[in-house]
Amino acid sequence: MALVVQKYGGTSMGSIERIQNVARRVAKTYDDGNDVVVIVSAMAGETNKLVALANEMCEFPSEREYDVLVAAGEQVSIALLSMGLQSMGYKAKSYLGHQIPIYTDNAFSKARIEEIEDKKIREDLKNGTIIVVAGFQGVDREGNVTTMGRGGSDTSAVAVAAALKADVCEIYTDVDGVYTTDPRIVPEASKIEKISYDEMLEMASLGAKVLQIRSVEFAKKYGVVVHVRSSFNDNPGTLVMKEDADMETVLVSGITYNKDEAKISMMRVPDKPGIASQLFSPLTEANITVDMIIQNVSNEGYTDMTFTVPRTDFKKALKIVQDTAGKIGAGGVISDESIAKVSIVGVGMRSHSGIASKMFQTLSQEGINIQMISTSEIKVSCVISAKYTELAVRVLHEAFGLSAGDAKAE
Ligand code: ADP
Ligand code: ASP
Ligand code: MG
Repeated sequence: MALVVQKYGGTSMGSIERIQNVARRVAKTYDDGNDVVVIVSAMAGETNKLVALANEMCEFPSEREYDVLVAAGEQVSIALLSMGLQSMGYKAKSYLGHQIPIYTDNAFSKARIEEIEDKKIREDLKNGTIIVVAGFQGVDREGNVTTMGRGGSDTSAVAVAAALKADVCEIYTDVDGVYTTDPRIVPEASKIEKISYDEMLEMASLGAKVLQIRSVEFAKKYGVVVHVRSSFNDNPGTLVMKEDADMETVLVSGITYNKDEAKISMMRVPDKPGIASQLFSPLTEANITVDMIIQNVSNEGYTDMTFTVPRTDFKKALKIVQDTAGKIGAGGVISDESIAKVSIVGVGMRSHSGIASKMFQTLSQEGINIQMISTSEIKVSCVISAKYTELAVRVLHEAFGLSAGDAKAE
């Protein structure tokens, strides 16, 4: 008998019929002789509605109440799925994050899982119960409801799989695996059979929303093999696992895009030691993650600093940066919310040169201006105007020969 953890995302849980479909899949896994723990997301669109309500109520909602609100969607799904399973004759029981408990730190809306108690789950499994756990939410040590950031149910699932030392962790979604790029933008994208944790980490952090980045960090840390597959068919999906020999032969494994960042520039900043720290420390204190940073060469004792922040933190960040600009005597602050970051990712880049220049050339041939660039061993990212995102993804996918049927670029 194996212990199987399955996670079903919003689209898979999007209607009563779809929840019934999920119930049938879960029941089949149970009938095959497995213990089953299911993690579910809110029904499609529900979390967005809750976020919109919070923003309608006030400009800067209290972080604690924001989490209480946005965690509500998952409560509906766990109850409905448990009812569905019970009406099919199975023993099923739903759990909210705090009932397990899934303990997190107190960073509301981006909480990190610290510990998961497995006592209740194990007891229920022993008497043949299917466990249905609310994804995305946990509880801090003071008993406050916390949430783990958008897409956080993936992380709940991998963390539960790690805590229970599950034999299998399956993430069921609306595509049948991880593709070379978002198949909604490039229908010719090909499915990746297996991908290393590091590549998946880059793909996720650069915008491939098929897995939340923290779920991949968890999987890597605890060696959980994650199987990404579709809840609408039985196709084999993608295995996210430790790097193996044949993965290295692929030069570029995927193209990603991210429209969830905004750009802020502080102009004419006095160029002296300590300025970067004065600029970025208040952002760190406010729990805002800064992504790409560019500092221009000094000109007459002044420099310009440009960086990107998550769009969800944009208003908060801009206010902080404007305050800082006043304090340090900068020339002014300008910002741009309509940017996108497109990236190419692949472990094979480590041992090849010329990949970045091919990317720049491909974008320039389409007249797309590059505003910022950042590179690592296994990725190159460019910030461009948001309106060119789809075009950039398509031409890069083609330039690197990633379409189904293309021979992989060596
Ligand atoms: P769920 O609600 O099941 O968590 P998500 O919407 O979070 O599903 O993630 C699945 C979506 O991720 C797909 O519908 C697809 O559009 C998008 N996606 C982006 N990049 C990729 C990629 N490289 N491979 C597969 N899907 C991708
Ligand atoms: N319901 C949450 C969201 O929409 C969490 C998840 O779906 O993973 O972000
Ligand atoms: Mg998701």
